[in-house]
Order: sequence, then C-alpha cells, then structure tokens
Amino acid sequence: MTVQVLFAGRPALWDSYAAPLQTAMTAAGLDALVSPDIDPAQADYLLVGAKGAPTDYRPFSRLKAVQTLSAGVEHLAGNPTLTVPAARLVDPGLTQGMVEWCVGHVLRHHLGMDAQIKNTGANWAPQVPPLAWHRKVTVLGLGALGQAVASALVALGFDLHGWSRSPKSIEGVACHHGADGLTQALEGAEITVLLLPKTDETENIINAETLASMARGSVVINPGRGPLIDDDALLAALETGQIGQATLDVFRIEPLPEDHPYWAHPNVTVTPHIASETRPETAASVVAENIRRCEAGLPMLYLVDRARGY
Ligand code: NDP
Repeated sequence: MTVQVLFAGRPALWDSYAAPLQTAMTAAGLDALVSPDIDPAQADYLLVGAKGAPTDYRPFSRLKAVQTLSAGVEHLAGNPTLTVPAARLVDPGLTQGMVEWCVGHVLRHHLGMDAQIKNTGANWAPQVPPLAWHRKVTVLGLGALGQAVASALVALGFDLHGWSRSPKSIEGVACHHGADGLTQALEGAEITVLLLPKTDETENIINAETLASMARGSVVINPGRGPLIDDDALLAALETGQIGQATLDVFRIEPLPEDHPYWAHPNVTVTPHIASETRPETAASVVAENIRRCEAGLPMLYLVDRARGY
C-alpha cells in the first residue's frame, strides 16, 4: 500500500522539497506519496518544520511517526497530543552550514577583523592576534552540530573545550559534562559558541554568573536558541566590558523586534536566524531512510527523547 507522507513544512518551501523528497523515497525502495495536500486522517508520516508545526496531533489518527525538517524540536518535546515517535533532523547539509557559519564568526572575532573591515580610523596600529592554540574556545552542546563545529575548530588549532550532558570523547577537544563541567568549560573561555537545544534545563544557561566566569572581553556566539541567554544579563555584561562582543542568530522573539537594544548595540551582531538552513537535497535522503526504517520495523534514527526535551 502506498505510504502517505504529509508535508507540513512552510508552504513556501514545498517547491524546493517536492522533487528531492519523491526521488529519495523511490531510491529508498518506498512506494510513497509525498504531498502537502494529504488528509490528516490518512497521513502515515508527517514532516514538520521548526515553525508552523501542528499544535494538536489528534486529527492525525493514523500517524506512525513525525519527522522534523529542522534540528530544533522544542515544539514537539512537550506536546501531550503527540503520542507517536518523533525524529529530529540530522542532515549533512545542515551540519556543513552550521560549521561554516560558526567557523566564520569565530575567526572574525579571533582575528579582530572588524577593525580592518570597517576601516574606521586612519591610524596604522597593528594588533597581532594570538595564534589559535592560545585561544580558549568553548562549544556548549556536543551533539550533531556541536561536535562538527568543535572538530572544525580543532582542525584550525584552537584550544577547544566542549560541554554536554553525557560524557564525550572527541579528538582534540577537552570534553566536560554536568554542572561541574560547565564551570570548567566556561572558566576563562575567550569565545563561547552555544549549540544547545532549548529545554527547561538550558534556558538562561548564559546568565550573570556564567558570563562572569568567561574571560574579560570575551565573545558569545549564539546559533542555538534565544532563550539560552538571559538577555538583560548579556546586555549588562556588554556594558561593563566583561563581554566584548556577541554574535546572535536566534532570539526569544523572532523576528527580533525593531526596538530591541541588540539592534543598535555597537558590540552586537544580529543575524536573522540564518546560521544554518535545512538543505532539501541532503535532508530528503535522511527523511526517506528514516521512513524506510520505520516501515521495516526498525527504530528511527535521531529520535526525540521527550523526557529530556530534545
Ligand atoms: P543535538 O540534540 O544533537 O545535541 C544537543 C547537545 O546539547 C548534546 O550534546 C546534549 O548533550 C547537549 N545538552 C542538552 N541539554 C543539556 C544539558 N542540560 N546540559 C548539558 N548539555 C546538554 O542537537 P543538534 O546538535 O542537532 O542541534 C543543536 C541546536 O542547534 C538545536 O537544538 C537548535 O536549537 C540549534 N539549531 C539552530 C540553527 C540555526 O540556524 N540557528 C539550525 C539548526 C539547529 P548529550 O550529547 O549528552 O545528550
């Protein structure tokens, strides 16, 4: 029987997903119909984005599983109407995009590139940055994205520290975990990259106390989720110079309101949630493989642990 896959991602994205998804389903040996127009009660699988996902899953009475088209799953984790397995997306294109964005922003701050790019003063005042191995960079979150970013920064020679819930072993990375591990990971960090999911435990993890433990004048880079940061605490730390610069891609309210102090702050760079996009051409085969596994009675890959919230 034909497997019915309902595309419930952003309607504007359907054109870019239609062909890659259908091709990938066929390549995975699935007799599948993928469409945004399937009756909810007839859908076997539901593909959802980070935004615009259903809030009530009860009409999807035949559903076998939900597959996200994004890495962030906070909208699924706490939903009591969702009773079938849900898998988050781990996609080579998404990972590569995040590596590029993070490496770019880390190097910008490490090298102090702003002064030259803006070319503001006519003063010839060379400031030689330290080599990467003298720069402590910390990545909070060592999942699919955090590990890839950490490894790319290790390849550039940074003194790399990482932090996760469970113990990890990643070549070249000083891996920390748990509450004590957070202190060690942040102590003296000069650049901190946030790649944690938004959960009850991670909300406001960057606060007055954790900001104070970083090196004076250090940099916070947040492509994770807005609520990871206590915004008032970050603004206060920017004011005192404890934090020198912040590059922020995600916010509590998106789009970031026009009157938000981040927009006008000279030491804050705002990017409009573009750190990494899902790439249909790579994501489609991951989605198809997960549906194939489910149809074959195998556990899906990258299942969301709803108790942990990610
Ligand atoms: P994963 O689920 O693979 O990794 C999450 C990591 O966070 C894991 O290492 C996990 O630890 C760690 N973690 C979670 N909770 C805690 C905690 N309480 N204490 C310590 N560590 C914790 O997620 P991804 O790497 O795929 O994605 C990370 C986030 O990036 C997403 O949730 C999303 O918010 C964001 N994102 C942003 C994008 C953008 O464009 N701005 C694009 C894509 C993703 P452990 O390994 O022990 O489980």
